Amino acid sequence: MSADTKNCPSNSLIATFSSPLSHSLTPVQKAHAPEEPTHQKWSQALLKWYDQNRRDLPWRNTRDPYAILVSELMLQQTQVTTVIPYYLRWLELFPSFHALARASLEDVLKTWEGLGYYRRARYLYETANIVSERYGGELPDDAEILKRLPGIGDYTLGALLSIAFGRREPAVDGNVRRVASRFWALSDDLGKGRALRNLKETIRAAMPEDRPGDFTQALMELGGTVCTPSAPRCNMCPLNVYCIAYQTDRVAEFPAVKEAPKKKTERRRMWIIEWDGKLFLQKRTEKLLEGMWEFPHERLEEKHLVQNTVEHLVRTDQEGVQVFRERTLSDGNVLKKDRYGVPMQLFQNVFPASSAAIQVKHVRRIGFVKHVFTHLIWDIEVFAVALDMQGAIEQSFEKNWFTEETLSRLPLAVPIQKAWKLWKRKCKNS
Ligand code: SF4
Repeated sequence: MSADTKNCPSNSLIATFSSPLSHSLTPVQKAHAPEEPTHQKWSQALLKWYDQNRRDLPWRNTRDPYAILVSELMLQQTQVTTVIPYYLRWLELFPSFHALARASLEDVLKTWEGLGYYRRARYLYETANIVSERYGGELPDDAEILKRLPGIGDYTLGALLSIAFGRREPAVDGNVRRVASRFWALSDDLGKGRALRNLKETIRAAMPEDRPGDFTQALMELGGTVCTPSAPRCNMCPLNVYCIAYQTDRVAEFPAVKEAPKKKTERRRMWIIEWDGKLFLQKRTEKLLEGMWEFPHERLEEKHLVQNTVEHLVRTDQEGVQVFRERTLSDGNVLKKDRYGVPMQLFQNVFPASSAAIQVKHVRRIGFVKHVFTHLIWDIEVFAVALDMQGAIEQSFEKNWFTEETLSRLPLAVPIQKAWKLWKRKCKNS
């Protein structure tokens, strides 16, 4: 039992009430209580607490729909402290839908660099273009139009309508679901179907006419700072006298439906190719991290995983270029030693129609980098490749050679930045 639940008031003080959800959701055993709080009571308690305790976050000082949308998209799956500098810089560079629409996608992705989930930046950019072209740069106060814009899902729609347009529309995210599941001791999956619809109706009924946006933010603030996933601070909670899980000493049981999906690990192999003081990068076309620049890399197939990767590369002539390092021994003989090979397919990707004469000077495995996405882990084995080339070198908007200075201006996802750092440490200082 947690310290908080030990402080649970005795049953004689337990407050209870009939949640509008209870007709359709798992019933809970409730203790007798001296009072039955109305929505008005708990929403007022929540707002009073919010007024006294809310964090001074930059997006809380505006009702500009553009700024609210930027903050809501940035805050998805991302910590508040991480978002603040990105949000401030974003509004400085792109203060309006028009300004964002005028920027290049490359600049937009570069500004988002490090925040992850780059699809959010692309959505924001696409939405800015639509709003700029069709709605004169102003986000319409119309749920039907808003929900058709890229990146505006059910939660973001509720946040925009309540915070920016002052409408009584609930925004239900993971924080709100967690608070609700404990507050009403609900075992159902509140993320879908009838349970979600009922939850939204209940929250809408509790939203005060004059402060729907503050109510939305207060619930999120409570979920983010007090009713946290682990070790909720129930003794500090403005709702503890009404909270069924707390009053029945069952906080640890909720939410009954755990949200975090299991992450899949992908083993990948990456090549940082150097020629003439420049590094080769290509623009990513896959959905994940689309439009970001990267060193060539590939997912290791099952057939690679059953063998030792290095052995496989060295020994399989059809798939790899054999590379040898020469060393002259004291007796004058030359020792040729196998090194890591480079898959032929890589060269075909990098130089699809090149007439240049290419010679591999060396290939070195320089280490591993790991990057954890929400749903996926990349475990990357990084190789440094040095080339000599003569003749016409193919270049394009999607594939090119960059000096380190120009490279630093490209939008690079965090795993690529990690690999680049590793390369600098291992290859520049050696
Ligand atoms: S709503 Fe408040 S009292 Fe209830 S579990 Fe969350 S922090 Fe504790």
